[in-house]
Amino acid sequence: MIKEKESSKEQMNVLERTQEVIRLALERMHYKQEAYDLVKEPLRLLTVRIPVRMDDGSVKVFTGYRAQHNDAVGPTKGGIRFHQDVTEEEVKALSMWMSIKCGIADLPYGGGKGGIQCDPRTMSFGELERLSRGYVRAISQIVGPTKDIPAPDVFTNSQIMAWMMDEYSRIREFDSPGFITGKPLVLGGSVGRESSTAKGVTIVTREAAKVAGINIEGSKVIIQGFGNAGSFLAKFLYDEGAKIVGISDAYGALYDPEGLDINYLLDNRDSFGTVTKLFSNTITNKELLIKSCDILVPAALENQITVENAPRIQAKILIEAANGPTTLKATEILAQKGILIVPDVLANAGGVIVSYFEWVQNNQGFYWTEEEVSNRLERILKTSFLNVYDTSRKNDIDMRLAAYIVGLKKMIEASQFRGWI
Ligand code: NAD
Repeated sequence: MIKEKESSKEQMNVLERTQEVIRLALERMHYKQEAYDLVKEPLRLLTVRIPVRMDDGSVKVFTGYRAQHNDAVGPTKGGIRFHQDVTEEEVKALSMWMSIKCGIADLPYGGGKGGIQCDPRTMSFGELERLSRGYVRAISQIVGPTKDIPAPDVFTNSQIMAWMMDEYSRIREFDSPGFITGKPLVLGGSVGRESSTAKGVTIVTREAAKVAGINIEGSKVIIQGFGNAGSFLAKFLYDEGAKIVGISDAYGALYDPEGLDINYLLDNRDSFGTVTKLFSNTITNKELLIKSCDILVPAALENQITVENAPRIQAKILIEAANGPTTLKATEILAQKGILIVPDVLANAGGVIVSYFEWVQNNQGFYWTEEEVSNRLERILKTSFLNVYDTSRKNDIDMRLAAYIVGLKKMIEASQFRGWI
């Protein structure tokens, strides 16, 4: 019997929350305490200090992390986040979510994640390049195409991946495109990578709508966040005939029950996903989440749906494009209300799936068409959704717990075969 966590569900930080769902999932599968002890924290966490010469001549020392959750199945894989609020706890939790995503999608990886405490919006191009290269030098011993493969995450992009790939190739003294994914196309990036997360969210939204008896065409959708995930998603669902009645960014939200002009908003958003500043009739993010809609998609931040607003959510389906947008207590409330939740580890797995395709193409030196990428992504995500949905129905549990059960199984079995537990 695996020991229970004491702290109250609503107050748990992202790491504690992840550990709690892992504990419940392993208990359902009748694994012993040793299985939980193995996966409740990453196997490795490297903390690095990176000195960077700033444009004014001074030196600033940045703190960075790389967490590798579990490499029983294969090398670890996961993005690098540039954000002032990056913490050890967050990077650990994110690496664990990556393991579960890879398990659900049946990719030959474990989860990894990296982060640097910095605000890239206040840094010049040159400073960002020196920081990116410094981070790779600091973690180079524990990463590589067969060890741990990074990718973009919040506030990192294909240019940063290109600098990192170049630095790693210099250190190793051979061209290493398979060291990192999310690269520009000319450096071995995959077609379809940039919009892959939103494409994946669109696929699972279609599947969820099917089982919930909702027609995407004519359905009302609210999306919180208008960055990489949120804006591509708005476009894809709009093109499928959905009415996007609400969107938001860090500065506010727009809501129109008749549907927003998505093409206008896309043309006028900036590279950080800001668009509401152009309007005076905005509402708050808080108000947006409880407005009437069929499908609600948090695609911005953690902890947006809590005990405070969960009872007032009107959507029939909640699709977690963002990582960790819903607390555990809120998950319970939504499940009781009969709202179908497609959890983050399933909903936003499209990014890591196409990253895997990029790595496979780099290893083969043979590149696929957009159609091949798209068809393979669709096949994997449809199967993943059905596996999680069936597990949830058969065991009468919510989709989050079901997703963790599906996502952990292969990793635990691989750890057993290796003789770790
Ligand atoms: P992004 O930086 O491109 O966009 C973030 C959006 O959220 C922006 O529109 C920003 O204005 C908005 N935002 C910031 N603070 C907000 C606030 N307080 N209230 C409302 N909106 C706010 O980020 P992204 O890549 O689109 O990622 C969004 C979420 O999706 C994150 O949780 C991320 O971990 C997750 N995700 C992204 C990917 C990907 O490939 N982009 C993959 C998996 C998961």
